[in-house]
Amino acid sequence: MAENISILGSTGSIGTQTLDVVRKLGNIKVRAMSTNKNIDLFEKQVREFLPEVVCIADEEKAKEFKENTKDLSIKVFAGKEELSRVSAYEKSDTLVNSVVGNIGLVPTVEAIKCGKDIALANKETLVSCGKLVMELVKEKNVNMYPVDSEHSAIFQCLQGNKENKIRHILLTASGGPFRNREDLENVTVEDALKHPNWSMGKKITIDSATLMNKGLEVIEAKWLFDVKYEDIIVVVHPQSIVHSMVEYEDGAVMAQLGTPDMKLPIQYALTYPKRVNTGFEKLDIFKASGLVFERPNTEKFKCLSLAYRAIEEGGTMPACMNAANESAVSAFLDGKIKFLQIPEIIENTMKAHKAIENYTLEDVLKTDEKAREYAFEEVRKCRS
Ligand code: MN
Repeated sequence: MAENISILGSTGSIGTQTLDVVRKLGNIKVRAMSTNKNIDLFEKQVREFLPEVVCIADEEKAKEFKENTKDLSIKVFAGKEELSRVSAYEKSDTLVNSVVGNIGLVPTVEAIKCGKDIALANKETLVSCGKLVMELVKEKNVNMYPVDSEHSAIFQCLQGNKENKIRHILLTASGGPFRNREDLENVTVEDALKHPNWSMGKKITIDSATLMNKGLEVIEAKWLFDVKYEDIIVVVHPQSIVHSMVEYEDGAVMAQLGTPDMKLPIQYALTYPKRVNTGFEKLDIFKASGLVFERPNTEKFKCLSLAYRAIEEGGTMPACMNAANESAVSAFLDGKIKFLQIPEIIENTMKAHKAIENYTLEDVLKTDEKAREYAFEEVRKCRS
């Protein structure tokens, strides 16, 4: 059970829900936290939770924040290079990593090196650098608790079964807002941001609409649970009641069910192995009738097949795919490209990348940078 935590990205969707959970639990101290640039909300959070160390990635905003909080005795760091001051803060035992994107990678590595347990909501860390990160987790003997609802479900299904071989992981997907829409040519940003079940940040909501989110989760699951990617089966389950399943050698399938609320996986990551009732809405099984399970349409949602292709190729290819995806999604959100150009840009960027098999952290960071540059050029071509 976590007692002293650091939170990366406290003002985002998972970050604010983590603070809700901390508030309800009442016995966890937030020692350090960070934000990108939402300093208004951040200041409120800091005044409530009184961390000792904070970091604001946007340096201008950091200056402003410092001015506004002169009356507080906190150490304020500025710039994303300083995020490790929060993630690896000496008085924290657990890092909740809830930032979006590959920016979460280095501070997570630093936290593991300092022996912190990790509650991981940032999927890009394992997508781009899974092999290295999990080797380090083993070496430093720390715990990696998944915060994503699917991975938390799998983690829960594994309890008491650690000696048993996994036959398949059945990774559920809501299917996103376009499951039943045929023509994706003229999808608008607004359409794509309307997720049927989950309320999440913008980047992950677009990833859910393209099904890249599920692709990232397949790769994440491979590393977290040490299974072959071929044994991870994506199951479209529009109701988001079953949060994922594990099939064992004897054919038994274990599932975890619950309401679609991220607070449960966040809380379980913090209280593990204990379960605590903090009054969140419970599942009414009689309202959960008519559960549907379908195969995903990988012709229509190319991003999912691109993710399988990336992990099949291995090495730095998933890092390349992830960076291209981050660039393409942000270009789509800025209205620079069309929805269907997202997979095109990722595919072209992947084609231009030669994967390095036994990579170092530097290789991953370089691949990330190169892929962003390449994707940026691809976006420019789309516009002209
Ligand atoms: Mn998920």
